[in-house]
Amino acid sequence: MQNNIILGAGIAGISAGYHLKQKGINSVIYEKDNDWGGLCGNFTIDGFRFDRFVHFTFTKDEYIANIFEKSAPLYAHPSVSYNYYQGCWLKHPAINNLSALPTEDKVRVIADFVNRPHKEVSDIENYDEWLRAQNGNYFTDNFAAVYTHKYWGQSPKDMETKWIGNRIYSPALEEVLRGSYAEQAENFYYTNYMKYPKKGGFRSILDNCRQGLDIRFNKKVVRILPQTKQVFFADGCSEEYSRLISSLPLPEIVKMINDCPQKVIDAAKNLNWTCGYQISLGFKRPDVAKHLWFYIYDEDIPPARVYSPNLKSPNNVPEGCSSLQAEVFYANDDEVPPEEWVLKQTTEKLKQICGFDDCDIVVKDIRFEHYANVTFTHGIYQNREIILNYLKEIDIESIGRFGKWDYLWTFQAFKTGMES
Ligand SMILES: Cc1cc2nc3c(=O)[nH]c(=O)nc-3n(C[C@H](O)[C@H](O)[C@H](O)COP(=O)(O)OP(=O)(O)OC[C@H]3O[C@@H](n4cnc5c(N)ncnc54)[C@H](O)[C@@H]3O)c2cc1C
Repeated sequence: MQNNIILGAGIAGISAGYHLKQKGINSVIYEKDNDWGGLCGNFTIDGFRFDRFVHFTFTKDEYIANIFEKSAPLYAHPSVSYNYYQGCWLKHPAINNLSALPTEDKVRVIADFVNRPHKEVSDIENYDEWLRAQNGNYFTDNFAAVYTHKYWGQSPKDMETKWIGNRIYSPALEEVLRGSYAEQAENFYYTNYMKYPKKGGFRSILDNCRQGLDIRFNKKVVRILPQTKQVFFADGCSEEYSRLISSLPLPEIVKMINDCPQKVIDAAKNLNWTCGYQISLGFKRPDVAKHLWFYIYDEDIPPARVYSPNLKSPNNVPEGCSSLQAEVFYANDDEVPPEEWVLKQTTEKLKQICGFDDCDIVVKDIRFEHYANVTFTHGIYQNREIILNYLKEIDIESIGRFGKWDYLWTFQAFKTGMES
């Protein structure tokens, strides 16, 4: 009998199970947590629901959009977000909306933008050069490079650029000038709308797909024997497989495989990623959150980004309440500060930025994710290829954001499960 095993009940694993089922093939999904969804999942405290990081869908793939929308009616929010920089609020993208900045900052941003280095993509060696060619030095030094540290946990000099696409986009000088006088109505974001389920949190987009799937929870995989086609779990049980599909992160699966070659282990050691805290706050006031999401450029404020669950959907909070979730990222090899410190620092800073008091807070929570974003440090493609070739050789199909080791949005992670 066929024994098809899928590792991980995130969007990629659920998609794999669903698409096998569509073809009449049964599978069992093993998940280490006690719930499904992975990074698309959520948690609820005293009626306040928080996703695991921001999460909207904006796929243009008709097949996938249809699956998501049939599972959950969606709000379509205009993609309007803001940037917080030293007490000023700038509509996103900041370089197109400098109007709120003090005059001296504006002059320096624009002067350096005009004199930015003009480079061909082929001459660009790292993300730092790419940022300077796009924005000029002053904006890079004060905005983009600082944000890169906060979001990617890396210096832009240590990152390559293929992941951004093969182009340098700079706004026209007229756009920058216009935005330096008054905030622009035009949306320069990569998508006009951000969609989000009216009920049930982000993972509701998967409700139809996960129906009828055999998902086993609290089943952490600890060892894989490709020689005998066996998977071992932390609870001491094991299963034999005829087909193995994994959405586990490459650095983790490599450690689990019996007799994994040293070259593959070394390649995995050279991969980089971010981990991060989610700081979730619930308020007994309806008006704390003003923006669907915003970015923070100041180095002394831990979060890179803050979003509002109640503006995504009022269903995420009890009536008359509001909520925020802040995202704080670190490189995988950073020394991560203790959660008490991050929680306190973040709450204190957000009090000043968003204008609330301790007495408004009814929910305060902090959680850590070991894997958030894959980081595109130099050497990523060679190392990834070594690992993926090896997994193919031993008949493990690797899917999902951390199984493909790529900067995949949810619909792209879903697609990797479809194609397995
Ligand atoms: C900060 C942030 C914001 C994002 N915002 C958006 C957004 O707005 N829109 C969007 O489209 N995408 C967004 N994404 C991307 C999106 O979260 C991912 O593309 C997608 O959720 C990845 O799904 P996955 O199934 O590949 O991985 P995961 O969700 O990580 O699923 C892997 C599963 O494997 C399980 N697992 C791990 N180890 C083991 C083990 N040893 N044994 C058993 N099970 C195990 C995990 O618990 C998890 O459930 C965001 C990501 C981040 C980090």
